[in-house]
Amino acid sequence: METEAPQHPPWYLEPFEGESISHYFGRFRRQEIVNISAPGSLSRKAGIGTALSRWEKFRFNPRPTQKELEAMAKLIGVEVSKLEALCPPKGVLMVTCSTRLCAVCYREAPYHRIHWQFQSTEYCEKHQLPLISRCPACDEKFPLPSEWKDGNCQRCGMKFTSMKKRQIIAKEKRAKRLGIRSDSKSV
Ligand SMILES: [Zn+2]
Ligand SMILES: [Zn+2]
Repeated sequence: METEAPQHPPWYLEPFEGESISHYFGRFRRQEIVNISAPGSLSRKAGIGTALSRWEKFRFNPRPTQKELEAMAKLIGVEVSKLEALCPPKGVLMVTCSTRLCAVCYREAPYHRIHWQFQSTEYCEKHQLPLISRCPACDEKFPLPSEWKDGNCQRCGMKFTSMKKRQIIAKEKRAKRLGIRSDSKSV
């Protein structure tokens, strides 16, 4: 039996599971049909001032209001609940001074996860590896996920998918500092 497909506008973009709002809107704005380089421009089209610029930087103080989410959802043709899922849960503190990455997760599915930016998430639970926020090759800080177009360091070009080794080194260093043996099985 055929089910009726939901009516989506041509610029509709399905969010990935656990994707961060910054990464999602980077993808959304870069679509050929949209092609809006500044988050503020899209935000103003939705009539919510420059709120999206803050969200893309993981600044959630104040949190998005229902009205703001509804206005943005209407503009881009995405359900409000899907927009909410791109944001951190209430009460969760965010890291805003750096952008975090688990290279192994990224190799599995190339997008930035919202939970990497939670202050409480220093480790990737799935891979038992510390998250990194700088390029292992040139030490450049990772840009905001909204700018993760090609999945590599913008300075030296190293691919995010090749950065696992640095996470392992960080894990070993950390274990040494704490005086415990690194459990190589879980890597
Ligand atoms: Zn991971
Ligand atoms: Zn680099």
